[in-house]
Amino acid sequence: LARLRGRLARSGSPLGSKLLAVLSRDHLTEDDWDELEETLLLADVGAGPAGELIESLRTRVRVLGVRDPASVRELLREELVALVDPSLDRSLATAPQTAEDGTRLPAVVLVVGVNGTGKTTTVGKLARVLVAEDRTVVLGAADTFRAAAADQLETWGARVGVRTVRSDRDGADPAAVAFDAVRTGRTEGVDVVLVDTAGRLQNKAGLMDELGKIRRVITKEAPLSEVLLVLDATTGQNGLNQARVFGEIAGVTGIVLTKLDGTAKGGIVVAVQRELGVPVKLVGLGEGPDDLAPFDPQEFVDGLLG
Ligand code: GDP
Repeated sequence: LARLRGRLARSGSPLGSKLLAVLSRDHLTEDDWDELEETLLLADVGAGPAGELIESLRTRVRVLGVRDPASVRELLREELVALVDPSLDRSLATAPQTAEDGTRLPAVVLVVGVNGTGKTTTVGKLARVLVAEDRTVVLGAADTFRAAAADQLETWGARVGVRTVRSDRDGADPAAVAFDAVRTGRTEGVDVVLVDTAGRLQNKAGLMDELGKIRRVITKEAPLSEVLLVLDATTGQNGLNQARVFGEIAGVTGIVLTKLDGTAKGGIVVAVQRELGVPVKLVGLGEGPDDLAPFDPQEFVDGLLG
């Protein structure tokens, strides 16, 4: 993913320019501080974190007697980085695993999230990154609800040059397809199996059953390395609600925030990490095959502040 670094810096700058516009005023009044907080709220940072940031920044500006815009900007940068939490481990577990009997197992990455958030696209982009790193990959089309979903995944697979395990039947058992994909990966000595799933949130109990079963049958073949929750950055509070539901039922280990190219609401990164207690690991910055990047807090904040 290293070659894709640098892309993140181009997303989300409207938030930063608004913040900096206020901070460059001569004397910051109560109204100015309110405006700053409001700007953070509008960017979906969340009320708790926004309040904490403003309070901490205010204190430091006062205690340090900082006046000039460049110094205030630096303090703001530090506060934003702290909020995004650079201490979290954002590496993706994609190394092959070893079974108890010493046999080699593929890494298994389960990708979950509501339909339309960008799951299939993310699986395709991730496969491309892994192939570029000379790793072998198999895709599992466990979104069997719509045949079009498997077709879309297969198209990505063909584009990237990896095989897609799928069912030809609409409504086939998604767990059976996931199992087949992981078994194929294991018997063929593949490095990474990426499993795409359906996400019909209308029926939470059904989704819970389905994901629970997928997890159970996969782990008969190989332990899960990652469960990535895909969230659409443009959906704000709705995305947070989704995160809550999937956090409860799916054992999420990392978040992929898609469509960050289409929003100034990058603050959702902060809100969703707090909600789930797991890091944003990857971000989607467009619809193309190269539009996936590792999430880097420093780079993200630098991008915000322009
Ligand atoms: P799924 O139903 O969750 O599998 O979602 P899809 O992968 O089919 O994506 C839904 C739509 O979002 C498609 O039109 C994608 O091209 C688009 N999409 C996915 N990721 C991104 C992204 O990072 N940026 C933008 N702008 N569009 C994206």
